[in-house]
Amino acid sequence: MLYTSTRDSSLRFPAAKCFVQGISADGGLFVPETFPQLTLDEIASMSELSYSERAFMVLSRYLTDFSAEELKTCIKNAYELKFDDQGVAPLHFLNDTTAVMELYHGPTLAFKDVALQILPQFLKCARKKVNEDATTLILVATSGDTGKAALEGFADVDGMAIAVFFPNQGVSKMQQLQMTTQTGDNVFVCAVNGNFDDAQTGVKKIFADEGVKAELAKKGVKLSSANSINWGRLVPQIVYYFSAYADMLKAGKIQKGDKINFVVPTGNFGDILAGFYAKKMGLPVNKLICASNKNKVLTDFFDTGIYCANRDFYKTNSPSMDILISSNLERLLFELSGGDAPMIASLMAQLKNAGEYRINEDMFTALHESFAAGNASETETAYAIRDTWAESNYCIDTHTAVGVAVYEKYRKNTKDTTPCVLLSTASPYKFPRSVLAAIQHEIPEDEFEAAEILKSMGIKQPAQIEALKTATVLHKTVCEKDAMAETVINSVK
Ligand SMILES: *Cc1c(COP(=O)(O)O)cnc(C)c1O
Repeated sequence: MLYTSTRDSSLRFPAAKCFVQGISADGGLFVPETFPQLTLDEIASMSELSYSERAFMVLSRYLTDFSAEELKTCIKNAYELKFDDQGVAPLHFLNDTTAVMELYHGPTLAFKDVALQILPQFLKCARKKVNEDATTLILVATSGDTGKAALEGFADVDGMAIAVFFPNQGVSKMQQLQMTTQTGDNVFVCAVNGNFDDAQTGVKKIFADEGVKAELAKKGVKLSSANSINWGRLVPQIVYYFSAYADMLKAGKIQKGDKINFVVPTGNFGDILAGFYAKKMGLPVNKLICASNKNKVLTDFFDTGIYCANRDFYKTNSPSMDILISSNLERLLFELSGGDAPMIASLMAQLKNAGEYRINEDMFTALHESFAAGNASETETAYAIRDTWAESNYCIDTHTAVGVAVYEKYRKNTKDTTPCVLLSTASPYKFPRSVLAAIQHEIPEDEFEAAEILKSMGIKQPAQIEALKTATVLHKTVCEKDAMAETVINSVK
C-alpha cells in the first residue's frame, strides 16, 4: 500500500515515510492510493475480537511496510496499557437503535488519545525504517486537549522528545494541571504570555526558521509535528467505526449488512473523515452526520458547496470544535473529485488567498451521498446535556452534546430511523462546570468541586481526576510570545 499527495498525484510513498514527514512537500496531505476492502464476513467476524485484534485487522491493510510483529507491538503499547478497564471504544446503548460510542477512556479523557497513544509508536518504528538518527522533537501549540494527549503519548518514547506551548490563562484549570504535572524525561511544557493564536503562530514561526533548525541540528535534534494532518493520527480512527458496527451486531441491534448512521462532533474533520474511509473500505454506512457548534463553517459548506472561512470566530463551551479551517476536509475533497490533485491544489490556493472556495456540482452531489450536516447553538447544546441526563440517566460532555442536539434535529427533519452511533469525544469530567451548568443552576467556581458534584450524582469519576488533585506541578516555565524559539533551543539538553 502506497500513499500519494492530495496536491501531487505523481508521488508514491510507504506509510513509514508519511508518518515521519507529516505533510507532503507540496503542502498537500498524504492519502492512500487505493482503499483496502473488508468483506461483510470479515467485518462480522470482528464481533468476537478484542479491540486490539480489530485494530490489527484494519491497520495491517494500510501499514503494509510494518511487520505483523511491529504492528502488534504498537497496538499493545497504545491500547492495552493506558486505557481503563472499559476498553478503547465501548458502546453505551441509549435505546434499541441508538448507541453512544465512548472514545474517552484513555489517559487524558478525550478521544484524541485513541490516535495520540499509537502515533508515537508508529513513529518509533518508522524512524528505524527511514534510518533517522536525530532525536525527533515534537512541537505542539495547544488550546488545551491536544497538548496533554500528545504529552501522554510521547512521554519516554525512545528517540523522541516533546515540547508543548499553551496560552497562559487561556486553558481551563483542569487542562493546565494535566499538562504541568506531566512526568517523563523527554517532556517540556511552557506557558506563553499570549492567547492560543500567539502560541500557534510562534510554533509555525519556529518550523519556518532555518536558523533555529540549524541550532537544533547541532544538538542532534530534528523538529516534527503531531497534528491531525499526519496520516498516523488519522488511520487509527478508522478502526473504531468497524468496532462500533461489530458491537452493534454482537448486541443484536442490527443484522449483518444493515446500514447504520454515525454522528460526529467535528472540528478539524479528522474524526468524521475516518468514518468516510471506513465506508470506502466496505463498512455499511448510510449517513455520516457532521455536527458543528456555533462555528458552523462546515454546515454552511454542506448547505451551499462554498467553504468560507471569512467569518467571526466564536469561543464556545465545546472549545475543541472551535475551528474555522478544517484541514482534513482537503482529503475528502480529493476523494470527491476522483483524485484530481491539480483541482485540489487550486481550491486550497483559493482558501489561502481569498479565504474561500466553491466545489463543482459533481463533488457537491457526491458529498451528499455520504454526509449530512447540522449545527447546534450553545443553548441547544446545554439542553441536550440536560435532556439526556433526565431521560436516560446518562451524562455527556459538551462536545458530545453538540452531536446529540444535531442528531435530534436531523431525525425530525428527515424522519430517518436508521440505527445510529453517536461518537462521544470527551468525558463529562473534562468539562465539569459546563456540564453541571446545563443540569442545575448553582455551580461552584472550582472545577474540582464541580467534579465532586458530578460524582455525588452517581456519575463514575475517572481515577485521573482524583490523581490530578494531588499531582506535583513539575513545569513552571513561562515565556513571552517572541521568546518561544529561544526557549525551545534552551529546552534541549
Ligand atoms: C478534537 C476534538 C473534536 C474534533 O475532532 P476533529 O477530528 O478535529 O473533527 C471533538 N471533540 C473533542 C473533545 C476533541 O478533542
